[in-house]
Amino acid sequence: MNKILITGGAGFLGSNLCRKLIQDENNSIICLDNNCTSTLDNIKELFQNPRFKFIKHNVINPIKLDENINEIYNLACPASPVLYQGKNAIFTTMTCVYGARNMLELAKEHGAKILQASTSEVYGEPFVHPQNESYRGNVNPIGVRACYDEGKRCAESLFFDYNRIYETRTRVVRIFNTYGPYMSCDDGRVVPNFIIQALKNDDITIYGNGLQTRSFCYVDDLIDGLISMMRNSENFIGPLNLGNPFEINILDFAKLIIELTNSNSKIVHLPMPKDDPTQRKPDISLAKEKLNWSPKINIQDGLRNTINYFSNFIKGSKL
Ligand code: UDP
Repeated sequence: MNKILITGGAGFLGSNLCRKLIQDENNSIICLDNNCTSTLDNIKELFQNPRFKFIKHNVINPIKLDENINEIYNLACPASPVLYQGKNAIFTTMTCVYGARNMLELAKEHGAKILQASTSEVYGEPFVHPQNESYRGNVNPIGVRACYDEGKRCAESLFFDYNRIYETRTRVVRIFNTYGPYMSCDDGRVVPNFIIQALKNDDITIYGNGLQTRSFCYVDDLIDGLISMMRNSENFIGPLNLGNPFEINILDFAKLIIELTNSNSKIVHLPMPKDDPTQRKPDISLAKEKLNWSPKINIQDGLRNTINYFSNFIKGSKL
């Protein structure tokens, strides 16, 4: 049996990863989460599976496990700017840094492979476009996003040091904006905000002029990338960009969602959050070369699936 530990396993990416990996009967999964920004509803159907186990735990604290672990996916961290900043900022840094250290210690003890979910935020406000892995980024180390950006940068540094010093089998991926089913409807990120606003015919809230860009990757593509990175036979440790290079500005993104939902929503402009990156687009040549990976699902199909998910969610919850 291949024993896999997924931290943040009840979150958006984590729950999608659990669902995918459990399909293989050779895998058994331990899902670790403190549910600070996630819900057990995301994984409720998995509890009946004897190859699935949930442990409520905060990765800031070390953990000992009796059973031998083969693979660790370290995904635990709040990921929405609204939730990782402000009063949660110190907790975010601690989750990134202590979480990485504690999971690396576990990997070292178990001889497990370990993958770190890093982020495109390590590039900050980029001077290089599209962003490739050799670009060292332009992060404001004292800004409101630093808790996340610097936390993840420090986690990367720990991963590379454990690899150099203890030969821990590490992998680091830098995840660009990802969307899809099981995103939290109220985490303040652009995809759930716009879709829910459009479905309810409420105003669509664009921050700033909407000319800032993002590149959105559908979650199934991203999950395939994570698994191939973990399993890559070359023992390539990264860092590796995972994302969809299709770039769109936020204004056009809002118009696309209005069109796909057939909504009567109007667009309104609100102030731009501090340090909001102006542009973001992954260079994925390395992922193509090393993993033969590239996204398969286009933005229209991905958004239709996500709109369906949120539409059912709203009906179920009377939101
Ligand atoms: N954004 C927006 N309206 C919203 C939520 C977000 O215009 O209701 C913008 C935000 O300012 C940013 C982009 O959408 O430029 C993506 O924001 P998100 O919080 O999803 O992720 P980020 O890439 O900033 O971490």
